Amino acid sequence: MLRSHTCGELRLDNVGEEVILTGWVQRLRDKGGMLWVDMRDRYGITQLTYEEGITPQNLIDQARTLGREYVIRVVGKVVERYSKNDKIPTGAIEIVVHKLEVLNPAKLPPFLIEDETDGGDDLRMKYRYLDLRRTPVRRNLELRHRMMRETRNYLDQHYFIEVETPVLIKSTPEGARDFVVPSRMNPGEFYALPQSPQTFKQLLMVSGFDRYYQIVKCFRDEDLRADRQPEFTQIDCEMSFVKQEDVLNMFEGFISYLFEKEKGIKLGKLPRMTYADAMKYYGSDKPDTRFDMRFVELNHLVKNKGFKVFDDAELVVGINAKGAAYYTRKQLDELTDFVKRPQIGATGLVYARVNEDGSIKSSVDKFYSPDDLQHWGSAFHAERGDLILILAGNKDKTRKALNELRLEMGERLGLRDKNVYSPLWVVDFPLLEWDEDSNRWHAMHHPFTSPKPEDIELIDDRPGDIRANAYDMVINGVEVGGGSIRIHDRRLQEQMFTLLGFSHAEAEAQFGFLMNAFEYGAPPHGGIAFGFDRLCTLFGGSESIRDYIAFPKNNSGRDVMIDAPSPISDTQLNELHIRMKNIPHQ
Ligand code: ASP
Repeated sequence: MLRSHTCGELRLDNVGEEVILTGWVQRLRDKGGMLWVDMRDRYGITQLTYEEGITPQNLIDQARTLGREYVIRVVGKVVERYSKNDKIPTGAIEIVVHKLEVLNPAKLPPFLIEDETDGGDDLRMKYRYLDLRRTPVRRNLELRHRMMRETRNYLDQHYFIEVETPVLIKSTPEGARDFVVPSRMNPGEFYALPQSPQTFKQLLMVSGFDRYYQIVKCFRDEDLRADRQPEFTQIDCEMSFVKQEDVLNMFEGFISYLFEKEKGIKLGKLPRMTYADAMKYYGSDKPDTRFDMRFVELNHLVKNKGFKVFDDAELVVGINAKGAAYYTRKQLDELTDFVKRPQIGATGLVYARVNEDGSIKSSVDKFYSPDDLQHWGSAFHAERGDLILILAGNKDKTRKALNELRLEMGERLGLRDKNVYSPLWVVDFPLLEWDEDSNRWHAMHHPFTSPKPEDIELIDDRPGDIRANAYDMVINGVEVGGGSIRIHDRRLQEQMFTLLGFSHAEAEAQFGFLMNAFEYGAPPHGGIAFGFDRLCTLFGGSESIRDYIAFPKNNSGRDVMIDAPSPISDTQLNELHIRMKNIPHQ
């Protein structure tokens, strides 16, 4: 090794030792008579010290030639520091240098490689390898590493086997858009990159593997947001001979194990909420349950009093923002503007304040008597100082809008503390959802999810009411994982495809391999997949999954460091049998 110790290792106990360190020059402070160099590696920072009159002049001169991010190797002696720095673990010592070697000089980095940097997002993405030198960014990847290790530990302890499944697979129309790869050897044909290893893990169950997992890259060609990347990592799991309850218990155990190992938090039993309740009380299938503020429906209290907006509405529903009666006119106007934004789409906001004397004042006093308003107050369990916020309109849209308002109020009132974790299972998802655009049923989870046996009879008349054996794990309003018990019977799977609008031939062409496999002894099975990047983001307390990915893509799906995607040569295109419209000679 070129070094005897790391830059994070030396303490008072080492005083007097001769050591060799290697690392990067973080900073140089030249006070004339004294000169200090902060030397950094993955493990920490150690200070080198030079003193005029004591350190030989040639060494001081040499140190003065160092620039930021030079890679150096020093030989020196550990001494106790006169003025200690208690902010870093090595802050009690420093190194008196005998010999310094520049292993590689460095150009001036385009931004500060320190905890607080002056580099904007774009610049840091372009020089991601420099950004990764910064402690907060490196810590994120260290967290990711530990999460990965503990995931493998837990699953290994429970007899799961990690099996790799192929990355070049077949494109299917279900789900998101596929990334495709042209096949040179099969002109005009394409592979697709997997959106998930779903069918393969089910086939592994047919093969008898019984408990499978894979920490696996998945690819979805969707529009990007802060919590999405075109390639992302799943903890993908499948088990045989299980019921929903078994899967929930196994993975409740998993998440508890991660919280315990990484954060020292004991979770206890995870609460469960049905999809129907999640929608009714939170307007979302991923409710943030760190705070209460549940929806209260008001139809029975507000109709037929002459207020047309409420009279015409399918649903009148509100929340109680506790203690927010002090909100000024201006703040209420802000909230009104907030709910009217096109992304949220409410037409207006009705509010009612509970005054200090217990009286209630609303923005629609014209239509409702003080008595009426008291009834509203009781429905919300409102107390003095509370602010009731009400939306009205079409049921689904209004619930969605109120969910946004609830989250906004939670944020404003400081109820969404990122150090508080509120995990739960959302269960009993509908099997199908109606898609207005294509005018047909879609599988809400995926087409391999099994209906609840007691609901199968609804298949012909009320397919929309069939509930699935499907579940999501939600933490703080984030869906961190989801899965289901699968269909393992050919006939039911065929029926499902028919319901989803596949012709017999289409189903056969796309999923014949799976249905055939079901005829050769498929065990009952089910599983789940966790979004690993999201899980890390949640554990790390950040907003963006990019912070937990070593080399992420930007919002346009580009890697700006390696500059991908990029055009390919005509020769390559020809070999792949691809004609580009904008290539003139073709
Ligand atoms: N393959 C599913 C997904 O990617 C998860 C599962 O059902 O296990 O969402």
